[in-house]
Amino acid sequence: MRKVALIFVLAVLVPSLVLAWLAMHSLHDQQFLIERQQSQIYQNVTDSIAKDISDKIASEQQKFAALAESIAATNADAAAVQFNDEIRKCWPLADVGFCVRLSGPATCTISCPSPAQGAEAHQFLVDNGNFLGNQETAEVYWNANANNFGQTFQATFLTPDEEKKLSGKQALSLDRNVNDFNSSSLQNSSNLKAQSRVVNPQTQAQSPSPDNNLSKITPAEAEFRQLIGDNTDGMVARFLQNELKLMFWHRLLSNPNLIFGTQVNLNQLRQEFFPLYQPDDQLRREILVEVLNDKANPVADLSSPANTHVELDMKHPFVATEIGEALPHWEVAAYLVNPMQVQQAARTVTLTLGLLILLLIVAIGVGSWVIVHCLNKELRLARQKTDFVSNVSHELKTPLTSIRMFSELLADARATEKDKQRTYLNIIAAEAARLTRLIDNVLDFSRMERGEKKYNFQPCDATEVARNAAETFRPHLESSGFKFDSSLPDKPIPVQGDRDALSQIIVNLLSNAEKYSNGRKEISLQVERKETPVPHAEIKVLDRGSGVPQGSEEKIFEKFYRAHDSLSSGIQGSGLGLTIARQIARAHGGNIVYEPREGGGSCFNLWLPIKPS
Ligand code: ADP
Repeated sequence: MRKVALIFVLAVLVPSLVLAWLAMHSLHDQQFLIERQQSQIYQNVTDSIAKDISDKIASEQQKFAALAESIAATNADAAAVQFNDEIRKCWPLADVGFCVRLSGPATCTISCPSPAQGAEAHQFLVDNGNFLGNQETAEVYWNANANNFGQTFQATFLTPDEEKKLSGKQALSLDRNVNDFNSSSLQNSSNLKAQSRVVNPQTQAQSPSPDNNLSKITPAEAEFRQLIGDNTDGMVARFLQNELKLMFWHRLLSNPNLIFGTQVNLNQLRQEFFPLYQPDDQLRREILVEVLNDKANPVADLSSPANTHVELDMKHPFVATEIGEALPHWEVAAYLVNPMQVQQAARTVTLTLGLLILLLIVAIGVGSWVIVHCLNKELRLARQKTDFVSNVSHELKTPLTSIRMFSELLADARATEKDKQRTYLNIIAAEAARLTRLIDNVLDFSRMERGEKKYNFQPCDATEVARNAAETFRPHLESSGFKFDSSLPDKPIPVQGDRDALSQIIVNLLSNAEKYSNGRKEISLQVERKETPVPHAEIKVLDRGSGVPQGSEEKIFEKFYRAHDSLSSGIQGSGLGLTIARQIARAHGGNIVYEPREGGGSCFNLWLPIKPS
């Protein structure tokens, strides 16, 4: 048993408890994981909107290029002068149009706008004149599309003569490459300096790292000529008086020395962002999406008006994505409508898992208890079986010894007096009856265990059965010095039963009363008819003996169980008498129970339902 218990503890209990503990421990990480998953979903949303906005700006840039080509299609020189007016007429996104003529290896001439074209044009020239004229460098964020229209420009400088010659034709592969400063060299230049983002997303704050909140987009000091390099199209963003200005530019296909461009009206451009976010209902309920400018002010609230009542800390969105070099420091930011929701969802999952693990631990505990209990029971049964074998052998041997001894005395004719001979014969008969009872009990028990016990049910009188059994046993009891009273009713009590089996119960009870009398030789048999709760016959066997020890009142009906074991009490027994008695009683629809008798001793109460014949 100890070995089995040890194996069970080592192989099942300990590993299960360790696993349960590990699972409990990992619950903490689980909560973090769920929050991460949720933030990843929202991050994907802002990433995709930021990409859509970049794509939208790129497509607007292409639209501009096509418009510039069409304006300059008939007369490029005239277009170069009037481009500001022309582009503003046909394209709402144009703030100020400009045209730059590349007139030398490092010089540019601004063909338009002229300061006389209004305050906006004047301001534009104040802001950008020197930069577009390639007279000074500026801090720019830029993006250039080489070969946007399938063209290759290896050189970007043409002399006025060459320009005239090539006017109307496509400029291809000119060798004098005065400007080999390309995008990547600019990117890698030492001018690059890291800048911090305008917002500080909560999800990044959870996992701090030194350059966590640095912008991915970095400006560089560059001249206009450097920027355009040999590219056909591009966009340039600059901060002027702390305000973002975005310019598109396009190199004329028919005259690569002419660069047409426009300053983009950002107010107009942001209108284009609204249709880009089409969330489903759930997403709409969960997050608010805003486009923030470089001062973290919302320029486009992409969420439904239903959610606008939520107050937002603009600088601390849940997640955010930078839009790109076209709109440096602009971000698509997502804010939680219910900031507690993610934590609550994570906590619910954690709680559910925690409860499941707790349930598992309880199940392991209960299972272990059941196994230990069963093992104990089996062990007790095994021990009782061993005791049973030695008890039965002993019980067989005792009467056999008496029978042999007294029959030898009679055979040797040593007992000559008639009285002595009768006494010896009585002893032999009583011992033989005891043997028969024991063997009957063992045989009956084995039949019952195999489910083969058969009863011969017949209408019978419970009083008569009790009387017969008592009278069979009376001589034996009285010869052993017992005072045996029986109180039986005059009227019969009809029951349906097997006479032999019922009398076996009564004989077993009387035999026990004798065995456990503890020197007080008084036994009573009482038979009564009772009407409540249902009409039944009540047969009681009472004694004044030792009684059943407390706690064993029910156990004495279990097979092989003995409350008084042979070693300590010196009373022989098989532990089967009451087991058989209860099984027979129950097979008759009745029962047998033990009650301590008032004034000391035992009272075994057998009841059988009345069945009128
Ligand atoms: P056994 O062969 O041991 O008598 P039983 O099944 O007849 O087996 O009885 C089971 C146990 O019940 C006995 O070992 C004894 O401890 C207890 N018992 C039975 N009858 C009495 C009684 N009249 N008084 C006290 N204890 C009793």
